[in-house]
Amino acid sequence: MLDETDLSEERRWFYEERARRGVTNIQKKNINAQYVPSRQDALSVLLDMIPPEATVARGDSISLDQIGIIPELIKRGKNKIIDPSLRGPDGCMVVTDAHERQRMEKEVFSSDIFLTGTNTITLDGKLVNIDGHGNRVSAMICGPKKVIIIASVNKIVKDVDEALQRIRQFTAPMNAKRHYLKHPDREHFADLPCVRTGRCTDCNHKWRTCRYTTIIEGSMLGDKGRINVVVVGEELGI
Ligand code: SF4
Repeated sequence: MLDETDLSEERRWFYEERARRGVTNIQKKNINAQYVPSRQDALSVLLDMIPPEATVARGDSISLDQIGIIPELIKRGKNKIIDPSLRGPDGCMVVTDAHERQRMEKEVFSSDIFLTGTNTITLDGKLVNIDGHGNRVSAMICGPKKVIIIASVNKIVKDVDEALQRIRQFTAPMNAKRHYLKHPDREHFADLPCVRTGRCTDCNHKWRTCRYTTIIEGSMLGDKGRINVVVVGEELGI
């Protein structure tokens, strides 16, 4: 008997249609883009895109962690990994020395490949992000020779206005709450308005996590193919 309560097929169709539209429009902007149905497909595509011996830098991204690419690269044993924001199982930063972290953040710019996620992509092919520190968005824009960005279907929005709305009212509060709940330096985040109430007040708190807003509208012709977007047909990240 037909199960009317199972909407997985409709959801898969809807997401795929949106993803394909986003991918087509990104490709018009000198950015490579492709669609893969699942995180398992994304993992195998990423492994193919990263040559052995390439130095790989990771920008903070839950989606990347859910795909599991870094442990796979470590298992492969062929790539040097640079990850200034790496945290251990207890949630503590692995690199505790601030100067060493800064040095690693600079080293990211000379790596071969920068792997990261995006807060949103728009149906007309723009990547909209808000960063606290700016290291992720700056490396996307003018960092390593090759940038690979994971974008799951739940990050696809209609336009830049909707992207900013989603990030300010959903992504940023959720991310700040994640830091509060999961990391030992939680006291920094405890008093943020979004962590207390779930709503962004465009605060001026000293620990504000939203400092740099970027819209990538495409690459210059000479940089064609530097940025590569992999859109995954399942919900990942925030
Ligand atoms: S309340 Fe402050 S830290 Fe929280 S989302 Fe808004 S601007 Fe960012």
